[in-house]
Amino acid sequence: MYSIRIRGKDEKVVVAGAGYAGITASVILDGKVDLTVIDRKSYHEILTRAHLVAGGLEDVQENIIPLNEVLKGRYTRIVRSTIRSIDLNERRISIYADDGVEHIRYDHLILALGAEVNYGVDGAREHAIGFRSMEDALNIRKRLRSVKDGGSLIIVGGGATGISLAGALSEAGRTLGKKFKIKIVEALDRILHGWDDYIVKSATDLLKDKGVEILTGKKVMKVDDRSLTMDDGEEIRSDLTIWTAGVKGSSIEITPDVSRVKGYRIEVDRFSRIKGYDDAYAVGDISAFRLDYDGGSGYAPQLAQTAVRQGYKVAMNILNMMEGKGVIPLSIKKQGSILSLGDECIGVIDGLRLEGELCRYVDEFITYNYKRMLYGDSSAKFAYEEDPIAGMITLGRALTYVSARYTLALLTRFYTILGMGYHRGSTKEAEYPAHCIMMQMMTNRLRR
Ligand SMILES: Cc1cc2nc3c(=O)[nH]c(=O)nc-3n(C[C@H](O)[C@H](O)[C@H](O)COP(=O)(O)OP(=O)(O)OC[C@H]3O[C@@H](n4cnc5c(N)ncnc54)[C@H](O)[C@@H]3O)c2cc1C
Repeated sequence: MYSIRIRGKDEKVVVAGAGYAGITASVILDGKVDLTVIDRKSYHEILTRAHLVAGGLEDVQENIIPLNEVLKGRYTRIVRSTIRSIDLNERRISIYADDGVEHIRYDHLILALGAEVNYGVDGAREHAIGFRSMEDALNIRKRLRSVKDGGSLIIVGGGATGISLAGALSEAGRTLGKKFKIKIVEALDRILHGWDDYIVKSATDLLKDKGVEILTGKKVMKVDDRSLTMDDGEEIRSDLTIWTAGVKGSSIEITPDVSRVKGYRIEVDRFSRIKGYDDAYAVGDISAFRLDYDGGSGYAPQLAQTAVRQGYKVAMNILNMMEGKGVIPLSIKKQGSILSLGDECIGVIDGLRLEGELCRYVDEFITYNYKRMLYGDSSAKFAYEEDPIAGMITLGRALTYVSARYTLALLTRFYTILGMGYHRGSTKEAEYPAHCIMMQMMTNRLRR
């Protein structure tokens, strides 16, 4: 246990950004402190499901959470606005307001503004769709409708976002009654850089089976309305180009200058405080948290699981500090990897390989548990605690969830064999018998 300066109970905490890191910190602090949450959107997005929304496999409503549904504390204020600048010395945030600029003061700041798409190539911003939000997912879904049968979709970037999207879009054709030619273009010599070899190999095989072509070692130099030009001069035709290659930091002005990694990630100490400030924290994608504090190397990966744990632990430390207790250095360990490819899924958790339905249900459980945590279910919070008992409780919850999903899947198959046609995905409920609607409701209830 380490001790940092202890402060009064009624100090003002401002959370800038309500993505994974910011919303998690906010729900922990909600009702316990004078809290202001600022985001340009009035809702939180479950981005880890965005590819399924783009592919028409899940509804967007299932994957957004209105901020006022989960933040209801008496001393909580939700501000829907775009942040313009932050002055760390003055402890002041400037936001755009109807009549110009408004200033918000803080005693503790949690900076959680995430990252933005980095186009960085001639014509990419104008002719490609970025993929970083639910709005982008819906835009892709809309644009797919106007791509003709047999048309070509190019996904630039073979990281997890691009690969998941390729998997989901290969199934989008089925829901739209078309077949698309999908290509992934990756500048490195392999996809999923930094991921477990088993996941890389399985994803490559699964995508090939789905007819997705993977082009590695090809750098895009120029994007046009109908084509992409590679560094070797090759031109690839495209009816729809989606840009998932690279991110950059949120483009707000921070004064004075802070130390950055890769030009945009803000360097933080082992409590996730911005270097040189004991009242300002950076969490999630915008932060660079060194793993060597924990015996690892490099920086914590820009993932939802990192962001949630960082937000959770920083908020707990702020509460501890206000109660005069000691604070605990953050430990950010990767919990495992799951890659969703539409209806397919591959994962490795604690060395255990997951695939097929089991993997999908575990992936669904992670989202389900996260949503429960946001809605205040205290047993769901155990997933973000370190101690072994909390781990056992989460394992028990996961097993219960996965068994329930298996039972539903078996019943679904049973009905299908009887010719009663229940299936997953958007359907006109009116055409379905009552028990099918009930099954769909039960499945949706489990996902919520
Ligand atoms: C399509 C997609 C799929 C992904 N899949 C996975 C996955 O399967 N597993 C995984 O672990 N990770 C995944 N990730 C990565 C994960 O989503 C990010 O690591 C995570 O969102 C980071 O959380 P964050 O809180 O730092 O930022 P974000 O979640 O990006 O949130 C930032 C918030 O800040 C707000 N904001 C930004 N700038 C301003 C401003 N100037 N003013 C006001 N508000 C502002 C935004 O509106 C947003 O709400 C995926 C990412 C994408 C884009």
